[in-house]
Amino acid sequence: MIAVADAQARVLAQVVHPTPPEVLPLARALGRTLAHDVRAPFDVPPADNSAVDGYAVRAADLLDPGRARLRVVCDLAAGAFYEGTISPGQALRIMTGAPMPAGADTVVPQELAELDGEEVLLAPVRAGANVRACGEDVRAGAVVLQRGAVLRPEAMGLIASLGFPDVSVHSRPRVALLSTGDEVVEPGLPRKAGQIYDANRFSLHGLVEAAGAAPIDLGIVPDLRDPLRTRLLQAADAADVVLTSGGVSVGVYDLVKGVLAEIGRIDFWQVAMQPGRPLAVGEIGESHFFGLPGNPVASVLCFLLFVRPVLWKLAGRRDLHPPRFTAVATEAMRKKTGRQEFKRGVLRFTERGWEVSTTGPQGSGILSSMVAANCLIILEEPRGDVQPGEPVLVEPLTT
Ligand code: AMP
Ligand code: MG
Repeated sequence: MIAVADAQARVLAQVVHPTPPEVLPLARALGRTLAHDVRAPFDVPPADNSAVDGYAVRAADLLDPGRARLRVVCDLAAGAFYEGTISPGQALRIMTGAPMPAGADTVVPQELAELDGEEVLLAPVRAGANVRACGEDVRAGAVVLQRGAVLRPEAMGLIASLGFPDVSVHSRPRVALLSTGDEVVEPGLPRKAGQIYDANRFSLHGLVEAAGAAPIDLGIVPDLRDPLRTRLLQAADAADVVLTSGGVSVGVYDLVKGVLAEIGRIDFWQVAMQPGRPLAVGEIGESHFFGLPGNPVASVLCFLLFVRPVLWKLAGRRDLHPPRFTAVATEAMRKKTGRQEFKRGVLRFTERGWEVSTTGPQGSGILSSMVAANCLIILEEPRGDVQPGEPVLVEPLTT
């Protein structure tokens, strides 16, 4: 029996190289991981500029108290640049974002100005007011985004503001999905007595996509050695990671371990956790292999704990685990010491702070318990039963 953290460390140690980089147009790179540092080729903003619509002046020309009367030398349109210099007694009408003219150091906002023919009456503002300094956002040469950063929408805007139309990112890890079991039937086809529709391949398909990887659906394979062997070899050929569900328990039809031992390398782990204890991990050729449990909750949980960090590491990410924090349990929870237990929880923010309760019955076949949840409740190995009011660790479900 191994601990969850040890199992995570061992699967991550199997990933040595991230996927190769590819160049994508910026607009198609959402959620991808940067394969290189992004440096600013110039200062942002590239010049001192006005933060408001108003009048660019020399601060020394303003009166306090009282209003200064200055001559308007030019009305500068957006995108235009004033070649001249603002001399004493002069003002330049300026738009938000327009570069400051030479000589001026302060902008009086439109609201504090009154135009009078060719002249303008200006109320006082502090010297330097309403001017955005060259390079105040980003300095030329600075690393604005590091290799391994995930491209969020704001980052895409930042890269575009530096003039780059495309970006080098890691390619999406390819993940082959296979359900095992003679009783498992494709949704849409008739279901005989004793059969169940395939839930896992669909949960896993979504989880793979949500993790930023590319699913390859290889369908359902019966509990027969030859077809299983053929399909697994095909899967390893097509993908960086092969995921199966079912067939890793100790039943007579649980063939995954045996077949894996023939065509690849397999470790079979009893992880000290609930749900999801049996987990097969290994390699087929160059591909990473995960034999996830058949029970729908367990397969989702094992994906989140062991597969997603591997997909993120393959994709070049630096942060491999989602954030966790504590919340106060509002109900009692049964907990056996000596294993890590994962309850499906409902987390809410109240006037008392973060509180969490379970979604109800927690059987590892009860997929609706996962659907109703917005977080996992993590109860560490040494812990026993939880009483209402005790703090517990939670991890929000983000997909
Ligand atoms: P196994 O480890 O293959 O014995 O599967 C454990 C349990 O999970 C059994 O009740 C299976 O019927 C169920 N199961 C296996 N594969 C799936 C699947 N793809 N979708 C839903 N339930 C499954
Ligand atoms: Mg089975």
